[in-house]
Amino acid sequence: GKKDVKRVLIVMSDTGGGHKASALALKDALWENYNDNVDVRIVDIWTDYGVFPFNTFVPSYRFMSTYPITWKLFYEWTKWPSTIMGGEVVGHALCGSRFRQLIESYNPDLIVSVHPLCQHVMLRVLQDIRQMRNRNIPFVTVVTDLGGAHPSWFHPGVDLCFVPSQPVREIALQEGIKPDQMRQYGLPIRRGFWQQEKRPKGEIRDKLGLTKGVPTCLVVGGGEGVGGLDKVVDALVACLGTKPFDSEVVAICGKNGALRRRLERKYCDDAANANNGYPRMRPRNVSVKPHGFVTNMEDFMAAADCIVTKAGPGTIAESAIRGLPIMLSSYLPGQEEPNVPYVIDRGFGDYSSVPSQIARRVASWLEDPKKLQDMSGKAVASSRPSATIDIATELGEILALNKRERKRQS
Ligand code: UDP
Repeated sequence: GKKDVKRVLIVMSDTGGGHKASALALKDALWENYNDNVDVRIVDIWTDYGVFPFNTFVPSYRFMSTYPITWKLFYEWTKWPSTIMGGEVVGHALCGSRFRQLIESYNPDLIVSVHPLCQHVMLRVLQDIRQMRNRNIPFVTVVTDLGGAHPSWFHPGVDLCFVPSQPVREIALQEGIKPDQMRQYGLPIRRGFWQQEKRPKGEIRDKLGLTKGVPTCLVVGGGEGVGGLDKVVDALVACLGTKPFDSEVVAICGKNGALRRRLERKYCDDAANANNGYPRMRPRNVSVKPHGFVTNMEDFMAAADCIVTKAGPGTIAESAIRGLPIMLSSYLPGQEEPNVPYVIDRGFGDYSSVPSQIARRVASWLEDPKKLQDMSGKAVASSRPSATIDIATELGEILALNKRERKRQS
């Protein structure tokens, strides 16, 4: 009956990055495992329950990521233990009672943090609740960065800390997390990537309007379709155009509609490219297929042979599951920097910020099926498609939920 429903509070701050995406993925996996035996609430605690200046993290982050040097300074400054301690004391003094009200009104059986700024103050509040009400609510952290992690992700007072990778495990150990507090499954990602693709590649390419058997490079901007993507596409077309084989470039422009239209005008409008009977401006053996924000990234990744993208943790983990070699074209200073050696050290990608170099590297992969296959195998070997379900299962164990008794979704 309803009285047995376990409540899970996922706390985060919606500061870019995949925190919200990871929270939603965990919610979905808990539903998959335990159906309506579990109720999940996702809260941006600082925006919705913080006071000034703590409720300005989201716009501040947006500002700082526009001026990366300011973000880098903030990221480094907040690494100091004294900064973290100061933030904890002031944050608790100013926001503690509001956080306590949130917890007491929802009355969760478990709190999950998916954000580096949601450990210290929350754990103090839980200590208050323990003292005042003699109630102990378990608290776990799920790290949503990939190749490295900021120290504030780690608090020795957590019940469990889920890390996605060996490098993050090592940082966690340095920061005082004990091996028996730690679980290593992988990064939580969307349902579309919980399983390896089983359909034949040709079938998926057909569905997406791609030509069967033609080597294809996927180019992905961030969710916002950020800068430099058109320069990368231009360089790819120029370079692949000189090669003796056909190829396709699929450009995912995200929410950047202007960029998509620019690429369409340049590469897709045949009248504009007929060039009055003179030879066409663009090479005949490369076709460019621009898209806006796509909701079936798992299909596009299954259809492609490699990907050019910024070093976002979600996109890297997803590409690895689909066995795509990755050409990284940029990274956010701070949390995305360690994702570059993560990919290179595991042998499934490379990094350059120079469009012509990116294009040459991609072309060298596409013309060498052996090399592609080798890197693809290394990508798959480093990937963890079951991570999200594994984490949800472990959360279910804390809640004493039984996976085998789960109801199936009708
Ligand atoms: N994405 C998508 N459709 C698009 C562009 C991006 O679904 O058109 C998804 C992508 O698959 C990934 C997420 O957006 O899951 C980007 O997350 P990532 O961690 O790579 O970057 P961040 O969100 O940190 O900028």
